[in-house]
Amino acid sequence: MADMQKCPYVNRCGGCHIGSESYEEELAGKQKWIEENIGKYCKVNGITGMYYPYYYRNKVHAVFGHVKDEIVAGMYEEGTHNIVPIKNCLIEDKQAAAIIETAVQLINSFKIWAYNEDTGRGVMRHILIRKGMSTKQIMVVIVTAGPEFPHKNNFVDELRKRHPEITTIVQNINGQDTTMVLGERNKPLYGDGYIEDVLCGLRFRISPNSFYQINSAQTQALYKKAIQAAELTGKETVIDAYCGIGTIGMAMASKAGRVIGVELNTQAVKDAKANAKRNNISNIHFVNADATEYMTQMSENDQRADVVVLDPPRSGTTEEFVKAMALVKPSRVVYVSCNPETLGRDLEYFKKAGYKAKEAWGVDMFPFSWHVETVCLLTRIK
Ligand code: SAH
Repeated sequence: MADMQKCPYVNRCGGCHIGSESYEEELAGKQKWIEENIGKYCKVNGITGMYYPYYYRNKVHAVFGHVKDEIVAGMYEEGTHNIVPIKNCLIEDKQAAAIIETAVQLINSFKIWAYNEDTGRGVMRHILIRKGMSTKQIMVVIVTAGPEFPHKNNFVDELRKRHPEITTIVQNINGQDTTMVLGERNKPLYGDGYIEDVLCGLRFRISPNSFYQINSAQTQALYKKAIQAAELTGKETVIDAYCGIGTIGMAMASKAGRVIGVELNTQAVKDAKANAKRNNISNIHFVNADATEYMTQMSENDQRADVVVLDPPRSGTTEEFVKAMALVKPSRVVYVSCNPETLGRDLEYFKKAGYKAKEAWGVDMFPFSWHVETVCLLTRIK
């Protein structure tokens, strides 16, 4: 296990919950948290942590603001709107952090104003860097309050000169009074306006607004557990419920008969379809629907599934979903959860619907923050 490193911003920056605990203690705490919530339903295997739990974030964000006359970039102090300028963050990708530092220098030298939330004046709101950890492609997104971006061409030329590793630069316009970082309009200033990454041997396209797991190494560990738990033989009909851009279903497709991905967000479904096509996967298709309604409809049409994988948001799933799922009669269910508390609540619904939790595996995707992923296998008992 790696030596412990010290963060200079403990208790000031709201970006993570790094404290005085060692990573080993943190992992033990996460294991206990999972056991407390689901230990009465099934065996909980030892958590998979990171060997080196630092600099793992492939998506790095900073907000611009002024400290006296100088522009700085950083994170909000927990619970406030004061900016803590951040250098050498222990969980962010180092290359991304270096690009942000250069961008701040350039913005100061070109005297471009940071946006002020109170007065609504100024230009620069946020900077977001996304990196394909396996392709090494890097996207820089500059979020401005309106379409104007003074010294845009010089800024882009200089940033590229100092960081030739950047593969695309995008201006995102966010004129809304909102806590969301990105607005809807993206203007590529250099390159294609997106990057690609390879995950579980598959190629994914990532746009500024796409959802993509922020810890690539641990995502692969998580999906591997989910695939093992599904025990596919090549014949099964698999439903990937809450599928996002289709990553889990696509990683299972070569081992299944066919996969149906179900997702509510229209843009995510478009990305999922494009991703299946660019990887030549023909036995998967995506449905833009509510997962509960879709399975209810399947059962009304006398359709069945052999395996259901679900990866719901932190709020978990619902009793209605579990009842609808039981009607398509899968013999195995793989629940990928990002919140042990809602997982514990949901296992009770599964029990009532005739599904028994067999085994669970924790995977730590977010070292130094109070989030943990769990894969839980359930089988049908009646
Ligand atoms: N499995 C994906 C994404 C999981 S995030 C991955 O690993 O990348 C959870 C997803 O559930 C989000 O994309 C969200 O849009 C979707 N979602 C939320 N409620 C839903 C519902 N009722 N039916 C279908 N999808 C839903």
